[in-house]
Amino acid sequence: MNLFSKLKGQHQAKKILVSAVSSNRLAHAYILAGPDGSGRLTAALDLAKARICPEQEKGFCGECKQCRQIDSMVHPDVRITLPKMKTTKGEEVVDLINARAKDGITPLRFQGNTYISIDQMREMSHRLSRKSFEGYGYVEIIYDAHRLRREAANAILKTLEEPPDGALLILITSRVSGLLPTVRSRAHTVRFGRLTTSVVKELLMERVGVSAETASRLALLSDGSPGLALELSRKKAKEKSKAEDVLKLIFSKSLGDMELATEMDVMSRKMGREGILVLCGEMTSLIHDMRRAIAGSRPLAREIVPDVVGADDESYRRMEKLFLLCEKRMRANVSPSMAFSTAAVSSRKRGA
Ligand SMILES: [Zn+2]
Repeated sequence: MNLFSKLKGQHQAKKILVSAVSSNRLAHAYILAGPDGSGRLTAALDLAKARICPEQEKGFCGECKQCRQIDSMVHPDVRITLPKMKTTKGEEVVDLINARAKDGITPLRFQGNTYISIDQMREMSHRLSRKSFEGYGYVEIIYDAHRLRREAANAILKTLEEPPDGALLILITSRVSGLLPTVRSRAHTVRFGRLTTSVVKELLMERVGVSAETASRLALLSDGSPGLALELSRKKAKEKSKAEDVLKLIFSKSLGDMELATEMDVMSRKMGREGILVLCGEMTSLIHDMRRAIAGSRPLAREIVPDVVGADDESYRRMEKLFLLCEKRMRANVSPSMAFSTAAVSSRKRGA
């Protein structure tokens, strides 16, 4: 198993973690400190595997039941504590964690002035005082640990001073200075740097399915945070992108092929080559979300997908290819109007 292979771009942090895991010298508590979206949770899950996986003495296998449950964030002995509001419901927490487990990018964060309460820390101590479910130890991950209320932070101290056998505590934070010095001194701090735009771009293409063009733009705007890039993309999608109009026109029963081609031609002339290239990227991202919605998953780049009747996964798969081809043709200097109209009209044809 290639240890910490999912951790992108963090050479220094990776070196420290790989060395600890492969020499079997795991500390009982870590602070993973760095900006949002720098891979701290990804690293925390791999640390959890190193603690719990029974298959390998030095490291983890990544394939056994324990490892797979940790990856899907459903392992009964690997728990994540999140800052929340008093009114946040238990199922909202579960939904958010599931969304994150699925796409590996959704930020684990609720809106508002959230905090980690002493009750949440008491629940943690209680879990650690019982036998672990699977018998391989426990891992407690505390996300945004700088949002621990003071009394909650004091409660953690006790756990840090006398860690139960087989327990691993991981605090994730973007603000180490927001942790009590007494907490900081009892855990091993590993620092994560800001990701470069090229790493963010790669992650967005891989996990959100946006085009290279869109990924570059979002990566530049997001200042090294894939999570923020995702939020920006959702916000943009909310501003009602032209992509949704195009999709509806393609599946409109009252619009003939010729009329559709004319509409696309007018749009291309208005938006110009650059505008249509961006729109192609938005089409790919929208199609990606439509396919996720059909498969019953949460859309990634937007909150909700438009209501489109009569399109199945197969037609979207074909359409995705057509709009990727459209981008390619435009780069080979085919006129935007020609390339875009062709992609739209061909999207209607079976077996195209
Ligand atoms: Zn394993």
